[in-house]
Formats: sequence, structure tokens, C-alpha cells
Amino acid sequence: MSQKTSKNPAPILPPATLGMLGGGQLGRFFVVAAHEMGYKVAVLDPDLNSPAGAIADQHIVAEYSDQNALDVLSQTCAAVTTEFENVPADTLAYLSKFVPVRPDASCVSIAQNRIKEKTFLRDHHIPHAPFAEVHSEADINAAPDTLFPGILKVVRFGYDGKGQARVKNAAEARAAFQSFKGETCVLEKMLALDYEVSVVLARGQDGRIACFPPAENLHTNGILDVSAVPATGSEALIQQAEILAAQIAEKMHYVGVLGVEFFVVGGELYANEMAPRPHNSGHYTIDACVTNQFEQQVRALCGLPLGDARAHSAAVMVNLLGDLWYLDDKHHSKEPNWNELFTVPNLKQHLYGKHHARAGRKMGHFTVIGSNPAEVRAAALTARAAIGIADEEAPASKGRE
Ligand code: ADP
Ligand code: MG
Repeated sequence: MSQKTSKNPAPILPPATLGMLGGGQLGRFFVVAAHEMGYKVAVLDPDLNSPAGAIADQHIVAEYSDQNALDVLSQTCAAVTTEFENVPADTLAYLSKFVPVRPDASCVSIAQNRIKEKTFLRDHHIPHAPFAEVHSEADINAAPDTLFPGILKVVRFGYDGKGQARVKNAAEARAAFQSFKGETCVLEKMLALDYEVSVVLARGQDGRIACFPPAENLHTNGILDVSAVPATGSEALIQQAEILAAQIAEKMHYVGVLGVEFFVVGGELYANEMAPRPHNSGHYTIDACVTNQFEQQVRALCGLPLGDARAHSAAVMVNLLGDLWYLDDKHHSKEPNWNELFTVPNLKQHLYGKHHARAGRKMGHFTVIGSNPAEVRAAALTARAAIGIADEEAPASKGRE
């Protein structure tokens, strides 16, 4: 038998147990993919009711910094990955002493801090919005006028538009900085977005990259609302998005699934955020691709060859937020009328098993698939309206025919 190098160790095969940090919906889909492939999964999440913990082989209910829990995880698992970027860096560093952790702590630390993220983009000549670091009000006063109007974003723990304020001038930026209690921020120039696209890719231990077809994303109130594949835009633009995302993965020596969000401005791409994990805009891959983003996460984690990332269908995904449970009455929740969705034959519904619906909380999604992008888009928007998502939020139809 040939000697395996430490760079490409022997693949981890079923029925090994895989470790997942985080028990949300992304972790839950990972558990489903791992189970289908024959693996077992141990989930670490402090929430007793976590969606992934509910279906995992083992749910370790503890904080991410709990050393005993991390010892149990590393002793149980052949490798560990994460479903969210805010795992403490020390947790990943500690685990990696005992067990392979993918993606590496260094990649997660870039994605969990907007200053590190933007600096990484700048250092590697990936186009991005102009920005300034804001550690104090003096940094706002020193910021060039060209950054206004802008967006002030807290550097850590922001998501779904939280921890962000749109600011017209330095006075508004100072007020917003105070409202964030002086937390370190980035001030970004507000760009006039044509639309947004994202690339989800996987990079294997052998360095091979498999890119899923980029999705066009519509956000409502800062939260992803609708993702459509194929995305609007020329072949060249879509290909360039894939190239830039692949460059990011390569420069980081990334192993795992990576989501990269882009703005399209005047036909040019600007990288926005990186997610060191599967991405909400990649949920369409579950129903429309040969291999989905969660199977790809298992494959990269285990050192298996990546699967085919090709889409066999056009797809439009619609997020189902907790607001839907409170349509008639803001104080009392009721189950949405799922029959509206189950009656659409080419619609795939996914609910995450969350215990409580809250406004803005991602409770599930559905994906409509088919061969004709325009028909798929129309059917998805009709279903979206039928389940009760307000018309005023409906996106303009601009998919490629
Ligand atoms: P998060 O997704 O973590 O909340 P983002 O940086 O992705 O934070 O911002 C959320 C959304 O806000 C983006 O998808 C985009 O619609 C809008 N946005 C963010 N930054 C800018 C910008 N510089 N110019 C224009 N729109 C922006
Ligand atoms: Mg984002």
C-alpha cells in the first residue's frame, strides 16, 4: 500500500462519527446528508431544542467553550466542522490539537471579523466596497467623504442585517457608533446595487474546487428572501464570480464549503461577505443539484472526492420566516396553511423543526424546480404569495430566460 502523506490522509469512511459545532438548520441538513452517506453525527450546541441536535446521533448540550464537552467531541469524532462562523477561535484551536477541524480556524477567524475579511479582500486584490476601520469616533471624523452615504457595520456577530446602520454623513455615523456602544465597526461606502449574487463552492483536501451555479439573491429587510438559479447576468459575469470565489478559497487554503456574497454594481462584481460553511443561498442545491452543499461539506470534511456540483434544474428558493406564523395576530402564533405549498407538485418544502417562531427567524424554505427558469420563478412567487408573504416584498422578475 502506498504511504499516505500527512497532507492527504486516508479518507474518513462510514460509519465514522463526524462532529458539528452548532445545531441550527445548516447543521441539521449536514446531519441528514451525513446519515444518508452512512456516517454518524455528534452535535455540540447549548440549546436543548436545537434543530440539528434533535436528529443527531448524539447531542452534547454545552457551551462552545466548555472544555469537557470539547474533549467528548474530539474523543467521539473522526473530524469536526462548523455550521456558523462565530464559534470562538479558541474552541477550534483547542479541538484541532486532537482531531482534524475543517475549515481551519484561520479561515473561520477571517470570516467572523469584518475588518479581517475586508483586509483579506484588499490584500488579495479582490474587488470590494471601499471601507474604513472604525475603532473610535476619531476614525469616523477622519473617514473620507467618499464613504458617505455609507453603512456602519459592527465587526463581529452581525447577521441578517443586524448590527448595521445606514448613515448619510459623519454625524449619523457617530450616532450609530454610539448606539452600537462603541463596538469596533467598519464603515462601508453604500453601493448602488444592480442585484446580488452568491457563489457556494467546495474545496477538497486535494485542492480541487467544485462551484455550484451562482444564485441571484433578493434581500428584504436585510434578510435573504428569494434566491434564483440561474442568476441574471452575462455568462462572463457569472463566470467571473466563480473565479473570484475560487481565488478566495485558494488563497485561504480553504477545505470545506464556502459561501461568497457579491454585489453587482454597474455590471461589475464586488465581494461582500464570506461564510465558512454552507450558505442559505445554496439551499437550492438540495433539490436542484447532483450533489448538494451539505453532502459536499461531508465529502470535504472526510477527505472524499467532491461530488458533481451541476444543477439539473432551474430553481427558485423562498425563505419562510417566523413572521408567517403571526399573520393575523401579532401575539398569537398559528401554523401557516402548508397545503398551499404541498399542492404545487414541483415545490420542495423544508421546515427546520424550530420550537418557536419569531419575526425574522428562519423557520424553513421551499424550492421550486423545473426546466424553464421563467416558469419556475413565476410558480415560486405565486406560491410565496399563496402562503401569505406580502406582495410589497415581491421581487421584480429579472431572471435569465
Ligand atoms: P449580513 O448578511 O451579515 O447581515 P451584509 O454585509 O451581507 O451583512 O449586509 C446585508 C445586506 O445589506 C446585503 O446583502 C446588501 O443587501 C446590503 N448591503 C450591505 N452592504 C452594502 C453596501 N456597501 N452597499 C449597498 N448595500 C449593502
Ligand atoms: Mg450577508
